[in-house]
Amino acid sequence: MKVYICGHSYEVVEVEDTFDVDSTHFGQIDYKKEVIYINKNLTAEMKEETIIHEMVHGILFHIGQDEKSQDEQFVQALANAIYMGFKLG
Ligand SMILES: [Zn+2]
Repeated sequence: MKVYICGHSYEVVEVEDTFDVDSTHFGQIDYKKEVIYINKNLTAEMKEETIIHEMVHGILFHIGQDEKSQDEQFVQALANAIYMGFKLG
């Protein structure tokens, strides 16, 4: 699966890792390789949520808001808001 972030094509790869950044982190984005890694053991819903979360990191990075991208609470809140929009739409 591929997603586009600010015109960059990111490959979404499912992996075994749990990304021990913190307990709420189920994915990771690599800006140089343009890859989003997600934990393959998640439910379909959690995978969607995780991809959106990592996309928010990517959007912030590509628009030069790297500092905001480090703010996990901000990223998660924005990702949740976007995800809810999909669910309600
Ligand atoms: Zn994050």
